[in-house]
Amino acid sequence: MRYIRGLRCINCNHLNEVSIIYKCENCSGILNVEYNYEKIKKDSKKILTNKGIWKFKKLLPVRQNIKPVTLGEGETPLLEIDKIISKNSKINLFFKVESINPTLSFKDRSLSVALTVSKQFQVDKVITASTGNTGVAAAAYAARASMPCTIFIPKDTPKEKLKMMKLYGADTSLVDGNFSDAYQKANQIAMKNNWFNLTSTFLNPYAIEGNKTLAYELYEQYGGVPDWIIIPVGAGPLLVSCYKGFKELKYFGLINNLPKMVGVQAEKCSPIVEAFNLKTKNVSSWKMKEKTIASGIADPLELYPEDGTRTLDTIYESGGEAISVTENQIKYYQKLLAEAQGLFVEPSSVTAVAAIDILTERNKFDYSKQSIVSVLTGHGIKDLDVLFD
Ligand SMILES: *Cc1c(COP(=O)(O)O)cnc(C)c1O
Ligand SMILES: [Zn+2]
Repeated sequence: MRYIRGLRCINCNHLNEVSIIYKCENCSGILNVEYNYEKIKKDSKKILTNKGIWKFKKLLPVRQNIKPVTLGEGETPLLEIDKIISKNSKINLFFKVESINPTLSFKDRSLSVALTVSKQFQVDKVITASTGNTGVAAAAYAARASMPCTIFIPKDTPKEKLKMMKLYGADTSLVDGNFSDAYQKANQIAMKNNWFNLTSTFLNPYAIEGNKTLAYELYEQYGGVPDWIIIPVGAGPLLVSCYKGFKELKYFGLINNLPKMVGVQAEKCSPIVEAFNLKTKNVSSWKMKEKTIASGIADPLELYPEDGTRTLDTIYESGGEAISVTENQIKYYQKLLAEAQGLFVEPSSVTAVAAIDILTERNKFDYSKQSIVSVLTGHGIKDLDVLFD
């Protein structure tokens, strides 16, 4: 893996070796894959050269001669939007349609990478906790890699997602509790059996690298850097990795500036937004009182609030925003998006659409000059019950 330097601790800066670890060996901090960018730059006339996310193989944490575990993920459309929501006639808005990935969410990017890394490390078995979409993607890519896969999900995960995981042949367990409870279960079992833990959040440093490809594609499709990128966040690896992708492009001299990142959560589970509103440095875990229909991003960060802090750091650094949306707004915009644009996305994903109007009302965007990309993270067909209540 000559293009990777190691796993840099975001806390103490210690460079950990490339191996199956989840925390810094020195201080238990969160790990960030660090590349030997000088070498990549020197070795490749063209950095971005394959198909889908794997055309960016040099910037993914895998050996260059390894055959990727792929289902054709990535290369999703960037749609120009002219009419929805905003009262403004002149809007400069785009939707990145991640809902049409092979298992219908952006998680395919990270799980394609995760299963490729699993093969490279020759692990026997993979395990993950999930709010639903990570589990579906893990099950599909594990099937593709002929790898046994165990998944822990909260018991109220949409039944369509559970059925898909089972169809792909994964071993599924329903946890009586929220995502943090599933996280803990998966972690315990992974440790005990020495299975490779693919859990989203910032636990697995390799898996989330797949999300960087979203930034590379936006750069190619938009032809530069959009001013704002709106992303629904659970713990926030998509937002953080997307920003990392843009920073890499800047390092390579392909772009001069970076986008402002907007993280959106459902009001009923919004630890990161709460910290942002209080202007604090650290995120605290969230006490779940009522559940939200945005189940895909309902992460109270019970044992790992530092994961939320990492996301908050990125939002601050980019000069972005963190906002929450109500259950009623989610329902309203899900219908509006379908009627006005022919796009059917799941509640978690709708939050990044509702956010456009909210931020427009607060005069955060200057539509005469600024461009906005909202990421439609997951398809609506995987959660049909929300339509009938
Ligand atoms: C996982 C997920 C998110 C949030 O992503 P994180 O990177 O975990 O913060 C957003 N939307 C959907 C549909 C998801 O499945
Ligand atoms: Zn450390």
